[in-house]
Amino acid sequence: MAASRAPHVQLVIVGSVGLDTIETPSARRADVLGGSASYACAAASFFARTGMVGVVGHDFGDDYLDVYRAFGFDLLGLQVRQGRTFRWSGVYEDNMDNRRTLSTELNVFAEFAPELPENYRRAPFLFLANIAPSLQLRVLEQMRAPRFIAADTMDLWINVALNDLKKVIRKIDLLTLNESEARHLTGQRALIKAARTLLGWGPQHILIKKGEHGAILFSRSSAFLMPAFPLEAVQDPTGAGDTFAGGFIGHLAANGRVTERALRRAMLYGSVVASFNVEAFSLDRLRALKRRNIERRVREFERMLQV
Ligand code: AMP
Repeated sequence: MAASRAPHVQLVIVGSVGLDTIETPSARRADVLGGSASYACAAASFFARTGMVGVVGHDFGDDYLDVYRAFGFDLLGLQVRQGRTFRWSGVYEDNMDNRRTLSTELNVFAEFAPELPENYRRAPFLFLANIAPSLQLRVLEQMRAPRFIAADTMDLWINVALNDLKKVIRKIDLLTLNESEARHLTGQRALIKAARTLLGWGPQHILIKKGEHGAILFSRSSAFLMPAFPLEAVQDPTGAGDTFAGGFIGHLAANGRVTERALRRAMLYGSVVASFNVEAFSLDRLRALKRRNIERRVREFERMLQV
C-alpha cells in the first residue's frame, strides 16, 4: 500500500488480515474486519509506531482500509493482490467458552510472500502474529537484528506445520499461545511443565493465555500471573488473544527496554486492551477507544490487583 506516512516504525507485526463471519448465541455478523494482524496492529497502535505486514485481495474495500488509517498504523507492508481476501468463520457456543471454526479460506494468503519495506527491517520489535510458520520465518529472515521478537501460533500449525513452527520457536524471545495449545505442543498437562519444556526450546519467555482467566508469563527464573479484567457482558471474544498480544508488545516497544517490570506492565496493558475489544464485534470497540479510556481502566484494574 502506498498510503504510508510514518517513515520509522518501532514495531512490525505480520499476521492474517481477513474478513470474518461470526456467530454468537445472540448475534451473527458477516464479513467483518478481522485477522490476527488487524487486531494486533489496532491494539499496538495505541502505544507504538507500528507497521503492518500482510496481504488482502481486490475485494478488500476502501472502508476497511479507512479503519486501519484511523488507527494510524503504517500500511506500507500490506500487499494488495489479485484474488479474494482471507476469510474465516466461527461459531461460539452458549457460554462463549467454546468456539468452533466453520470454515477457513486462505485465498490470497495461499500465495503470499511477505516483502518487508526497507524502513521496517531495522525495527527493534517484531511480533509474528498467528499465520503459517513458513511466513513467520520469511519475515524473520528479512529483519536486521531486532531487539525483541515475539510469536503467536495456533492448533492448526501444530498439526500441519510442526517442523517450521519449531524453527520459529528456536529464533524468538517470547512465544505466546493458549493453554490447550501449550499442552498439545508439549504433551504436558501441567502448564508449568509445558512452559518449562517450551523454554528449553529457546525462548526466554512463554506467555500462556487462559481466556477469561487471564494469562501467565513464564520466564527462566520467575512466573507472573495476570487476571483478565472482569466484564459484565462479552459480545464477541474473537481477537482477544491478538489484542492482548498487540497491546502487550506495543507497550513493550514504546518502553523500549525489556525488563521484568516492563514485561509485567505490558501484560497489564494487554489485558486492558483485550477487555475493551471483546465488548463489541470486530474492531468496533477499539475504533471508539481513546488512550485516556485505557489509562482509566488500567488504574481501576490496579486497584483490584492490590493486596
Ligand atoms: P483469536 O480470537 O485471537 O484466536 O483470533 C481470531 C482471528 O484469527 C480471526 O479474526 C481470524 O480471521 C483469524 N484466524 C482464524 N484462523 C486463522 C488461521 N488459520 N490463520 C491465521 N489467522 C486465522
